[in-house]
Amino acid sequence: MKDFNLNNLIRENINNIKPYSSARDEYKEATADMVFIDANENPFQTNVNRYPDPQQSKVKKRLAEIKGVNPSQILLGNGSDEVLDLLFRAFCEPKQDNVITLPPTYGMYSVLADLNAVDVISIELDDNFEPKVSEILSSQNSNSKLLFLCSPNNPTANSFNASKVEELIEGFNGLVVIDEAYIDFSSQESWLSKLDEFPNLIITQTLSKAYGLAGIRLGICYASVEIISVLNKIKPPYNVNQLTQDKALERLTSLDEVNKEVNSILNERELLVTQLSEISVIKNIYPSDANFILVKVDNANLRYNQLIEKGIVVRNRTTQPLCENCLRFTIGTEEENNTLIKTLNQLS
Ligand SMILES: *Cc1c(COP(=O)(O)O)cnc(C)c1O
Repeated sequence: MKDFNLNNLIRENINNIKPYSSARDEYKEATADMVFIDANENPFQTNVNRYPDPQQSKVKKRLAEIKGVNPSQILLGNGSDEVLDLLFRAFCEPKQDNVITLPPTYGMYSVLADLNAVDVISIELDDNFEPKVSEILSSQNSNSKLLFLCSPNNPTANSFNASKVEELIEGFNGLVVIDEAYIDFSSQESWLSKLDEFPNLIITQTLSKAYGLAGIRLGICYASVEIISVLNKIKPPYNVNQLTQDKALERLTSLDEVNKEVNSILNERELLVTQLSEISVIKNIYPSDANFILVKVDNANLRYNQLIEKGIVVRNRTTQPLCENCLRFTIGTEEENNTLIKTLNQLS
């Protein structure tokens, strides 16, 4: 990260692009009594007959208050998946650049890399599911643009050691993306407070997990104003729809409810760990800093199929590196968790 210069990382065509200027971009000082005949909308009321705010100002303002950042450090997308895709398109030249991922981890990083014709350098986590810092840093080359750190990591459920993460941010020459989809369940602090310290740091979060809004698709990217401006330039003009913006704002103003649910999930997690430890088919329970638990069982394929037969769908991770015979359980309601425990106890 020495002599960090964002301009060296942006793709040339993106640097030269002139963004589409939507009607709502060109005139935004809207007041209710004005006549809007600039966007070819249907004038009759449906609640959503108007195009949504392309900058999602209200949602960003609220998020900025909650997270202690500036609204200009936020980009919103149609789920984290769109946010991550924008990062590839802004910084990775197809058939030339590469990104680094640390398996076992979230599958979308390599899917998006393939989709964008970008190479993936994979450096497996160590036996404690921690990043191998020196191996990662020595594997980078001048075309390494993004390093994905998922913390807490999916599917392993642990958060990465903070000093290792810091070494990676300091030693990587491209942009470090910390995926904090599960941060609200974590005992570790978010990296958001370090945004101003590290110009190459990008943090993604989502309303899909702790906030209980997977169905509305709202992903969030926090980064420097410079990085956010690049992403803003290339995002589809109306990428976050009106219904999503309304629902997000509503939820972000009832944080007590969200906190209550998160606390209940955390209590259930603790209980579930205790109960799982007494079940014979379970051989290991990995520590969880998220809303799911990774366990090693005697035979993952067998147990997975048996659970399906009993109407319980879990995630079979046995084909993932370091995850042989591992299943991933999302923490459910008290009743759902009881059903899981009861069913696991009946397996033979
Ligand atoms: C679930 C998850 C997300 C969320 O993706 P959305 O597109 O925002 O729903 C992001 N990253 C990780 C690691 C996840 O497990």
